[in-house]
Amino acid sequence: MTGHLEEQLSAYMDEELSDDERRQIEAHLEICESCQVLLEELLTLQSNITRTYEEIQGPADFEIRVMQVIADRQEPAAAGKGWIFVPLLSFMALGLLWFAAGAILMKLINGFLKLVVALVYMASHFVSGVPVLSGAVVVLSLIILSTSVYSLRRLLQASTS
Ligand SMILES: [Zn+2]
Repeated sequence: MTGHLEEQLSAYMDEELSDDERRQIEAHLEICESCQVLLEELLTLQSNITRTYEEIQGPADFEIRVMQVIADRQEPAAAGKGWIFVPLLSFMALGLLWFAAGAILMKLINGFLKLVVALVYMASHFVSGVPVLSGAVVVLSLIILSTSVYSLRRLLQASTS
């Protein structure tokens, strides 16, 4: 055998060699310090890999422990069941308040809409009597519409970027 054993050492470690090849390698290892060091490094690496693999195998136990921690934390809360009514009652109170406020708001919106409709009706009657003014109103509303769309677009672009 000539040269060092770099390529045969892993096969030697995995016991994939014939008895003859084994004996040759062992004979070489006795006289060659660099191959001894290499073999030791490879063995250390192998044991590290094995240990890491065993650590990776942990999650089954880890999951159980996490579940245990969660169960432990939930127990004192479950012991005093009264606490659950506090958020429930406040939620119901909030709902009632929202309902009442909503009813008032609806009346306000309804009144406001009626007012707007009346104003638009009046305005349209007034505008139809004056053709020049009607054209001006159309142009003005188009300008307002386009500027509001433009500003809305810029606002959206600013919020997304
Ligand atoms: Zn060697």
